Amino acid sequence: IKMLLDVKNLSIYYYTLAGTVKAVENVSFAIGKREWVSFVGESGSGKSTVAYAILNLVPSPGQIINGKIIFEDKNILELTNEELREIRGKEISMIFQDPMTSLDPLRKIGDQIAEVMIEHGIEKEEAYEKAKELLKKVNLPEDRISYYPHQLSGGQRQRVAIAIAMAFNPKLLIADEPTTALDVIVQDAIMDLIGTLKDEGTSIFFVTHDISLAAERSDKIAVMYAGKLVEFGRVEQILENPLHPYTQSLLASVPDLWSEKEIKAIPGYPPDLRNPPSGCRFHPRCPIFKEKPALKGICDVTEPKAIEIEKEHFVACHLHR
Ligand code: ATP
Ligand code: SF4
Ligand code: MG
Repeated sequence: IKMLLDVKNLSIYYYTLAGTVKAVENVSFAIGKREWVSFVGESGSGKSTVAYAILNLVPSPGQIINGKIIFEDKNILELTNEELREIRGKEISMIFQDPMTSLDPLRKIGDQIAEVMIEHGIEKEEAYEKAKELLKKVNLPEDRISYYPHQLSGGQRQRVAIAIAMAFNPKLLIADEPTTALDVIVQDAIMDLIGTLKDEGTSIFFVTHDISLAAERSDKIAVMYAGKLVEFGRVEQILENPLHPYTQSLLASVPDLWSEKEIKAIPGYPPDLRNPPSGCRFHPRCPIFKEKPALKGICDVTEPKAIEIEKEHFVACHLHR
């Protein structure tokens, strides 16, 4: 299959006064047309940094130091600002955990939805007409067009953000924890809306720290640990046959309502990415490394490379070579 997005060897560092944070290191993955890929991993594992990189929006002092981001045969990282503006909001849209980061508190909802279309060359009248349709599509009453963001609930604001993201039937939607701040019922409705986008042909890059949420709707799951992509595969492969010890720990830490199974939190802490562990970044916390003396001198010395174990299922761990 032809891929919509092909990310190769992406590395991103933050150059802070306290040192260089190696936030993303050598990450490669691809997203096909109409595919929903969810990125999971603990706080600080680099999920948002990868998400921002796709639109070349990594905030300062972050810098993409290596890699290619191929979107439909173009390397995003080589585009001019104007070419990028053309793509943003039209071919690639983005929504965030807090919809207020993209909404202007001082302007009416309708103006903000229409603006995106006007910016991309649509006549004013048509843009407002389309804005009404979009509100309907995200299940908001038409009169919300003249509301200000503060007059809406968090869930309604997220619907507005999605309406804006939908304006051009984008090829890719980047969604960074769009439901984290919402209660469960609203969360579900927002997931449904993203599902609607996918049904209409949009590919989804979804970020969550909740692997059970990822499991619900995704086609594929990408597991990040300390700036590395440690496992990537189809949902069934990740859930039924997790290969990386970190993925296994993540799954073991999911609360299971239907069993008495004890929840095991992952012992230890994510490493300081200014000085990441040698070899496999997970080795200081890896239960298998602790158990098997034979891994000494391997896991703590040599970085494991990602390999394809079965079709579309990649893992970076010395246990799988
Ligand atoms: P979360 O689940 O908390 O949102 P994340 O997986 O999205 O986490 P990132 O926000 O991408 O993780 O952060 C990756 C690493 O980069 C972390 O170590 C973080 O401290 C660091 N980092 C992120 N933004 C900056 C910044 N502006 N300056 C310095 N370091 C940063
Ligand atoms: Fe554990 Fe070694 Fe695999 Fe890393 S490479 S996850 S330390 S077994
Ligand atoms: Mg984040």
